[in-house]
Amino acid sequence: MNITILGSTGSIGTSTLDVVARHPDRFRVVALTANCQTDSLFRQCVQFKPRYAVLLEENAALQLRELVREAGLAVEVLSGAAALEQVSVLPETDTVMAAIVGAAGLRPTLAAARAGKKILLANKETLVMAGNVFMDAVHASGSALLPIDSEHNAIFQALPRGYDGNLAGNGVRRILLTASGGPFLNTPLGELQHVTPEQACAHPNWVMGRKISVDSASMMNKGLEVIEAHWLFNAGADDIQVVVHPQSVIHSLVEYVDGSVLAQLGNPDMRTPIAYGLAYPERIDSGVAPLDLFKVATMDFAAPDFGRFPCLALAYRALRAAGTAPAMLNAANEVAVAAFLDKRISFLSIPRIIEAVLDALPVGAVGSLDDVLAADADARRAAQEHIHKFFR
Ligand code: NAD
Ligand code: MG
Repeated sequence: MNITILGSTGSIGTSTLDVVARHPDRFRVVALTANCQTDSLFRQCVQFKPRYAVLLEENAALQLRELVREAGLAVEVLSGAAALEQVSVLPETDTVMAAIVGAAGLRPTLAAARAGKKILLANKETLVMAGNVFMDAVHASGSALLPIDSEHNAIFQALPRGYDGNLAGNGVRRILLTASGGPFLNTPLGELQHVTPEQACAHPNWVMGRKISVDSASMMNKGLEVIEAHWLFNAGADDIQVVVHPQSVIHSLVEYVDGSVLAQLGNPDMRTPIAYGLAYPERIDSGVAPLDLFKVATMDFAAPDFGRFPCLALAYRALRAAGTAPAMLNAANEVAVAAFLDKRISFLSIPRIIEAVLDALPVGAVGSLDDVLAADADARRAAQEHIHKFFR
């Protein structure tokens, strides 16, 4: 299998390469991409010898080109957003791991779908922003789409093989999407105003990039995942129940009409869903330790607290509003999270900014990628204005 890894220097990207390195006979790396992480992309080039390496930033690419030349590697170094799309549609690539964070992942992931590549989808923002455009492209080209997000990978595994997008027709009553609740599940509400980016990024169970870590702390991550599940499994907002499960051992469940509930369990390590996607429909070693149920001993479950986690309610609101609303939710969230990580706003301001944006902007229909990109730009502008006005 020949693979392009978009976002290879990130948390998902490095976990993917860890699995790939365990099976040199199975996988060949065609292209690796990153934003500006020259040194770590160079180290990956030395180890995996891809045909192409892409850095978004031109200066970083110049440096990498020099390093590659000095090392005598036969790697072509490219730069810019167009190059990300270029390495997603290469004839020699059959599989694309979409692991760029945020809206920046949309165009190359969509390009891979249009080109009929097998897509391992970690970049949930693609589906949140442009669910119908992306799913239409997947269906039109006949791409295989495998969810890598642990919850969606679990649901995929618990649904019947070859699931056709009809929950009721397959005897499914609902989808149960588990959530750890993040680092602030039990923090006194009065303290949330003062929590720092470092506290927000210290997830109890998962090691992840900073943006998704903040999303997990606010539970916007679960909100984005509800929307992701909607598009992947053709499930309505009322078909998806979020279940808080702090141990993160059950990665999600499918409830059938006969009372059966099928779950996928495992240690919280993304190499499991990544290995599943890479080898599907086979199973391969991922390097993940076996789950020790005696050590887990107990598992807890609770309903989500929408008062503590208003971001989750905002995501359900956007899903129900449909059209451009999820793209605006995502864009406002990206701006607000970046401002929080820059210490310009407080943690509790994140949902306030998103709500203000959703209140201010009309919801439009999504007929094309341009509709999505326009809504994304409008929401980013509105969120920035809101921050300037109220948080200076
Ligand atoms: P990360 O921040 O660790 O890595 C992001 C990668 O994307 C890096 O390689 C970075 O160089 C690249 N990148 C960042 N901005 C870019 C831009 N503007 N243009 C091109 N490349 C850019 O993020 P992550 O935690 O690996 O998450 C990646 C995606 O996977 C996200 O969409 C996230 O929601 C999803 N996801 C992550 C996890 C996890 O455990 N980390 C779990 C489920 C889903
Ligand atoms: Mg997840």
